Amino acid sequence: MVKAVVGANWGDEGKGKITDMLAEKADIIVRFQGGANAGHTIVNNYGKFALHTLPSGVFYGHTTSVIGNGVALNIPILMDEIKSITDRDVPMPKILVSERCQIVMPYHILFDQYEEERLGGKSFGSTKSGIAPFYSDKYAKIGFQVSELFDETALKEKLVRVCETKNVLLEHLYHKPKMNPDELFETMMDYREKITPYVCDVSAYLGQALKDGKTVLLEGQLGTLKDPDHGIYPMVTSSSTLAAYGAIGAGIPPYEIKQIITVCKAYSSSVGAGAFVSELFGDEADELRRRGGDGGEFGATTGRPRRVGWFDCVASKYGCRLQGTTDVAFTVLDVLGYLDEIPVCVGYEVDGEVTTDFPVTYKLEKAKPVIKKLPGWKCQIRGIRKYEELPENCRNYVEFIEEQIGYPITMVSNGPGREDIIYRESKLK
Ligand code: GDP
Repeated sequence: MVKAVVGANWGDEGKGKITDMLAEKADIIVRFQGGANAGHTIVNNYGKFALHTLPSGVFYGHTTSVIGNGVALNIPILMDEIKSITDRDVPMPKILVSERCQIVMPYHILFDQYEEERLGGKSFGSTKSGIAPFYSDKYAKIGFQVSELFDETALKEKLVRVCETKNVLLEHLYHKPKMNPDELFETMMDYREKITPYVCDVSAYLGQALKDGKTVLLEGQLGTLKDPDHGIYPMVTSSSTLAAYGAIGAGIPPYEIKQIITVCKAYSSSVGAGAFVSELFGDEADELRRRGGDGGEFGATTGRPRRVGWFDCVASKYGCRLQGTTDVAFTVLDVLGYLDEIPVCVGYEVDGEVTTDFPVTYKLEKAKPVIKKLPGWKCQIRGIRKYEELPENCRNYVEFIEEQIGYPITMVSNGPGREDIIYRESKLK
């Protein structure tokens, strides 16, 4: 049986925590898209960790962590990440990397930086991890699969060809030093040595695991609104963030995905540029950012302050629909305990008309939030384990949002730890 854990919004919804929690009862955890450009923060008995490439299941001895073919694989970062957890006494996890996974090349990272420099103020707010140049090359069919590291003659030839075109851009567009295919080949041989112990036919492995009745968790990165097709294009990421893509990025049949847990945070946050209708500014924003998440809303990869805002029912309803949500995990609810009243964005006003349907980007840029205020609960709710024990106004907040988005909230997270979770029955299920 396959379950997916994905985000409804702009990312940073708390997927890492939910995956880490669900991994206790899973056999295999798979990353299926994205790269080291975003991070998951996990707090468990080993401490606090920011993971970028490894799946959030690496902390358990019984799980296998898989990097699927859909991921942008940065080999030095993966090696550093393995070391960073084993250095802190986490037992060496079982890791498998798809032989069809493509490699983030050193020049992808450079091109990402050079392009952001060139665009100046008109940049896409890239994390400069090479992700956009990586996926561009993948689809332009000049990327490098892990399997290609094992065919030296073909690899050398292809590196020469790729350098020819890249060097034109380096010289004439960016005015930067050119690349040398021989040096790149050496780097590839170093990568090969590092990655060889993990390489595997992941699709065949997962196919057999499913036949054997194993439980597989697909862990998404970012959220619906960063999907290149269904998100806030062009301020999106370069690989699909939807659960459906999990089938492709892991190499499993789509009908195997039985449960789709969409993670929604009790307020909104976003790193990077792009329309954000319920965004807050000034003191109100500073306060929410400071109190948010676990130690403030700052990017796990970049440390950048996240933009914050009130919960957005329009974006979340859309985000849940595109994921194909079976369950909503509603996270970071404990943070809102300081507010007398909690504003919620229940509609968008676009050109004088109110809608609850998430619009295309140019209309989204014009949208103004329609706000409804709900009474706060003014207390700490961490430590509560039963839904009925939450304050009435807190339950009302959860139920109001469930009604607005139209998908069952079956998990409420009230703290960063594994045990900070409340399961609830939903009328919608
Ligand atoms: P992800 O990318 O979706 O995994 O999200 P991040 O890990 O970047 O951001 C979520 C942040 O919220 C992390 O710092 C988590 O430790 C923290 N977090 C997750 N769930 C909760 C919760 O219920 N309450 C609080 N206070 N923090 C949480």
